[in-house]
Amino acid sequence: MDRIIIVHFGELSTKGDNRGLFIDCLYKNIRHRLRSFEGLEYEKAREHIYIKLLPTADVGATIDALGEIPGIQRLSLSYFVNRDIEAISVASLALLEEHKPATWKAKVKRADKSFPLDSYTTASEVGGYCLSHKAPPVDVHEPEATLNIEVRPEGAYVSLKEYPGLGGYPLGMNGKVLTLLSGGIDSPVACYQLMRRGLLVEAFHFASPPYTSLAVLDKLRDILKVLNKYQSKVRLHVVPFTKIQEAIYRYVPEPYCITIMRRMMLRLAEMGAKKYRCPAIATGEAVGQVASQTLESLRTINAVTNYPILRPLACSDKLSIIKTAKEIGTFEISIRPYEDCCTIFAPKKPKTKPRIEEAEKYEALFDFAPLLLEAIENTSDEVISDLEI
Ligand code: ATP
Ligand code: MG
Repeated sequence: MDRIIIVHFGELSTKGDNRGLFIDCLYKNIRHRLRSFEGLEYEKAREHIYIKLLPTADVGATIDALGEIPGIQRLSLSYFVNRDIEAISVASLALLEEHKPATWKAKVKRADKSFPLDSYTTASEVGGYCLSHKAPPVDVHEPEATLNIEVRPEGAYVSLKEYPGLGGYPLGMNGKVLTLLSGGIDSPVACYQLMRRGLLVEAFHFASPPYTSLAVLDKLRDILKVLNKYQSKVRLHVVPFTKIQEAIYRYVPEPYCITIMRRMMLRLAEMGAKKYRCPAIATGEAVGQVASQTLESLRTINAVTNYPILRPLACSDKLSIIKTAKEIGTFEISIRPYEDCCTIFAPKKPKTKPRIEEAEKYEALFDFAPLLLEAIENTSDEVISDLEI
């Protein structure tokens, strides 16, 4: 009997036209992620992707890795057998003996209508065989486990155990987004949510040396290395932000400094998005979290660009963001001490309801356009990838 992992697709059902694209993209991502794994054979079909496990395969590691690939809804670990009732029954019993559920029931799907037995008869034959071989009792109403039997033209798949996937879309399927990445807790979680949604993240960071230390760059690299398990290659751009920040603090009244700083960040992000061909920008902002994230602030900051700004954490509680950060493994890196340009220059009393006209008035006090151009020209470009692992 062959062991096979059946990969069930994520949000594919609603995307009729994109089916081929979705499957091709997911297949490519799976092959890439599992490229160093031994003993696997792949098959791409309309309904599922099948991964055959040869004796040298590491089943646990394969399932763990698949659990980190966006676009997979769930995985079933199955036996693949000939499409005859005896082989199906033997495989079913083997699975019940392996996992020993307290109760179970068989659920049959017949994609191959030429199979001589109907679904009901197949289920009762399998039930009869297993019960006569001391399998646990059947409970058709509330079983602890469901034995899924899928009869297809090429054979039958029998599975008992399922593993959850990440859901969402295959990475890259929904395009590329320029994501503002600080060294904090929120923005790495935002990156993860974007990746899960099939978006390729291109990371954009504002550095203000010597006010912020260069160690933050190592922190960002470490964060992106953790995120490499979802996106194996991330480009990181570091924008030299010191001159702009100094100008802001020279010309702008203190309560408006953060607002103007964030407007400058977004202007630069738009320039970066054009340069790196990203149709959208993303941030780790959450409504109400700090002064610059009130609705009025977001509006005044947003007014400098027409680009769509994705804020995956807009409505998330800090506690749930922290929980996710811990689950994906970025939390421990994010809490390493560091100074962000936002915290270094944080005014004592930031404006919580800044107005667009006021912001424009203060911005007219200095010539910022050449500073932005200079910053974009000197922005670095580096690739953080898992290829060396
Ligand atoms: P985070 O934990 O992601 O730093 P935060 O709660 O500290 O978020 P802010 O510092 O106000 O909030 O930043 C809000 C968002 O602005 C961040 O999530 C990030 O997307 C972006 N941002 C802030 N500082 C920087 C920076 N130095 N470089 C790039 N993006 C930044
Ligand atoms: Mg921050």
